[in-house]
Amino acid sequence: MKSPAFDYIRAESPQHAFELLAQHGDDARVIAGGQTLLATLNMRLSQPALLVDIAGFDAWRGIAVEGATLRIGALTRHSEVEASPLVAQHAPLLAQAAPHIGHRAIRNLGTFGGALAYADPAAEWPACAVALDATLVIAGAKGERRVKAADFFQGLYTTAMQPGELLKACEIPVTAEGVRQDFSELSRRHGDYAVAGLAARAEVKGRTLSDLRLVFLSLGDRPVRAVKAEAALQSGAVDAARLDGADAALRAELDPFEDLTHSVAAKKQLAATLMRRAVARLIEETR
Ligand SMILES: Cc1cc2nc3c(=O)[nH]c(=O)nc-3n(C[C@H](O)[C@H](O)[C@H](O)COP(=O)(O)OP(=O)(O)OC[C@H]3O[C@@H](n4cnc5c(N)ncnc54)[C@H](O)[C@@H]3O)c2cc1C
Repeated sequence: MKSPAFDYIRAESPQHAFELLAQHGDDARVIAGGQTLLATLNMRLSQPALLVDIAGFDAWRGIAVEGATLRIGALTRHSEVEASPLVAQHAPLLAQAAPHIGHRAIRNLGTFGGALAYADPAAEWPACAVALDATLVIAGAKGERRVKAADFFQGLYTTAMQPGELLKACEIPVTAEGVRQDFSELSRRHGDYAVAGLAARAEVKGRTLSDLRLVFLSLGDRPVRAVKAEAALQSGAVDAARLDGADAALRAELDPFEDLTHSVAAKKQLAATLMRRAVARLIEETR
């Protein structure tokens, strides 16, 4: 199917984009990498009268370490995150997750901020952002504000951004010594969206985990943090009994949607499998 006709303006600056969004309201939509938006236009799931192209804002692109923070500009491409030595060093979770995002051609065009702003519960970056306790920098005509990732994702394709606001950057605390990160997902074919995925990070001392975050993708309407399973795993050194307790807690707290190929029980089984594998890697049983 072809997209309906629309007007197109390449915004010259963020201020220009904010003016266009204020002027055109719901009739306008910003486009960054176009890897989601163009598909929704072609399928006629979205019919904006005007596309405002923000891809030319060079200041919103790039990866840098500023003090104890890794800052990733919203317009940074997925493949730039994937190849970045700074990301590999300071947020290895992202480097592990990147190859799971679609295929190379999509990662070369799609943007880090576009995936966060779109807030697809099956996307990798939102779950990673919550696991890494990231802060999202939101820009608007009146200035900037910062929102924690856990508060940014508010439901299916819904974020804390207000009409007229744009995502400018993502700030991630750099990895501290003793912290390990692990990303894994299960999908029907490589490049497909995950049936279930897990972004995990913890401070690890031997078999003891603390400050553990287990954040699942594709198992709810937003990134889902499994706080009861986290508590079970942090109640003492990880052993078989604690893993079984965390497994039971996880299955009780998750509330995934059934879809065309996977029942609720199957998704819980996949989630528990991902959790057991992630914990094993975090405590280096299988490394
Ligand atoms: C075949 C295929 C497979 C894919 N598989 C995956 C996958 O496995 N995992 C995954 O995460 N993604 C996947 N994607 C989506 C891809 O990662 C997109 O690049 C990403 O979701 C959106 O980024 P974009 O820059 O392309 O955004 P666009 O398509 O340009 O925009 C997407 C939406 O976000 C809004 N938006 C974009 N940037 C901003 C901003 N800075 N501030 C506010 N709003 C903004 C737009 O208005 C639009 O509503 C896939 C896409 C395709 C076509």
